[in-house]
Amino acid sequence: MTMSRDQALALDAKDPLAPLRAAFSLPPGRIYLDGNSLGVLPAATSQRLREVVEHEWGTELIESWNSAGWIEQPGRIGDKIARLVGVGPGELVAADSTSVNLYKVLHAACAMQRADRPGRRLIVSERSNFPTDLYIAQSVAREFGLELKLVDAPEALPAALGGESGAEVAVLMLTQVNYRTGVLLDMAALTAAAHGVGALTVWDLAHSAGALPVALKDCDADFAIGCGYKYLNGGPGAPAFVWAHPRHADRFWQPLSGWMGHAAPFEFTSDYRPAPGIGRYLCGTPAILGMAALECGVDTVLAAEPLGGLAALRAKSLALTDLFANLVEERCTGHGLTLVSPREPARRGSQVCLARDEGAYAIVQALIARGVVGDFRAGDAQVPDILRFGFTPLYTRFVEAWDAVEHLRAVLESGEWKRAEFNRRNAVT
Ligand SMILES: *Cc1c(COP(=O)(O)O)cnc(C)c1O
Repeated sequence: MTMSRDQALALDAKDPLAPLRAAFSLPPGRIYLDGNSLGVLPAATSQRLREVVEHEWGTELIESWNSAGWIEQPGRIGDKIARLVGVGPGELVAADSTSVNLYKVLHAACAMQRADRPGRRLIVSERSNFPTDLYIAQSVAREFGLELKLVDAPEALPAALGGESGAEVAVLMLTQVNYRTGVLLDMAALTAAAHGVGALTVWDLAHSAGALPVALKDCDADFAIGCGYKYLNGGPGAPAFVWAHPRHADRFWQPLSGWMGHAAPFEFTSDYRPAPGIGRYLCGTPAILGMAALECGVDTVLAAEPLGGLAALRAKSLALTDLFANLVEERCTGHGLTLVSPREPARRGSQVCLARDEGAYAIVQALIARGVVGDFRAGDAQVPDILRFGFTPLYTRFVEAWDAVEHLRAVLESGEWKRAEFNRRNAVT
């Protein structure tokens, strides 16, 4: 047997990261395995938001733009996120949503290639990339007269970047950890391959920032964006972030040339003059309440720094996902589940995905009714329907992984997932 429940409890007892859990307001009686969709509420956020609402907004009002440093938030919080993704201070800003930021950087990358390597006609990505990434890419491709070429599996990426078609690639746009399968791509190798054929790279870090060490600079990536409400715990709809390599940041206007990205917004001039560096990737007025919550969330990840930081979080995440996958294989055999996420640590993000031909949605609903919160992602021609379990090493315990598998086994063995109430689809799955 992989491990007894007592052994899982013993792992928690000696886990050096265990104290970080106290920084969260976890709802009692819940095993929350969905931090890759919406991170848990940090304990500090409610008080901080109350302060921003009642004091900074309620009392100080407009002065807070200066006195409370509201105007500096995108850069200040950006500097904190920069520490999590391997880039320097002043290179990254918190702003807008992931979708909007993707539009800005993909547009900038295509504009650079149009100037530097005209005639390239492809944006390359994966068919299983998150839909909003593909939709935004379709829009940018239309604007630039490019074609969005989608490969069916990560193994096909090197071929897409090789041979004759490689010379036609303007931009390689990838998500580092696949939202549905949990596959972790090799950012260094793929970036090198793209640069080898003269292509630029745009990386989406939605499922990697805050979950594992990301080394944008060391990998020599060109552009990156990421999400504030998943592993950064910034709250529903939190501002996202955007990074451009300093060698590119000053070259192009990003397409959403709003006043917050102007070199001197409070001169109120009629002509747009982009701010130097990453500042030009801002657009309009930052959402201050969202920014305040995002900062509390980012601080929960930075709190791991004295305890080994992202390397330690990554080690725990791999141990958790390994334990969960092993227990599922051992205790849920014969119930039609297939492990979709890779077993090799170097290819796995921080989630475990299980496929099942029938009932995946209902099984997730039955688990939620038992207090085990994962989610369901609909399949397509390439990928089957998936039960998805995200492991946030900041607050997830080994015994929770153990108990979650026991609930899964009970749901499958009892057949309780077949009840009608678990088979009615909600708007959000
Ligand atoms: C979650 C996620 C997004 C979300 O984009 P929004 O603009 O916040 O809706 C985008 N891309 C990927 C890969 C994601 O996982």
